[in-house]
Amino acid sequence: MGSGIETMVEKLVVPTVKVACGFKVEDNELIALVGFAMAPTSREVLTKVSFWLFKINGSVLKCGICDRGPLTRKGLFLHLTRVHREEVKALVRDELTRELKKVAHAGKADLL
Ligand SMILES: [Zn+2]
Repeated sequence: MGSGIETMVEKLVVPTVKVACGFKVEDNELIALVGFAMAPTSREVLTKVSFWLFKINGSVLKCGICDRGPLTRKGLFLHLTRVHREEVKALVRDELTRELKKVAHAGKADLL
């Protein structure tokens, strides 16, 4: 695994947490961050990983990793980026690796 992946993982932590907290990440924001070629793969990663980062029960929002809550969306954002940064990175790394392998099979990736 090259250092290209770690750079991508770092870049995707905040957008992934944003999506988990219900904030929008626009396509141009993602493209500015990772480049046009990696934007679709990054979107897949954001969508999949964000799912594990929150729990919602009625209107009560909780942390998907440690069950802390209720939290506001902003509170969850701060909690995930401060307390669970390493866990989020690990989840992003796993999912990104999986997505890149798919792309590599299609003959389009140069990161692996
Ligand atoms: Zn937590």
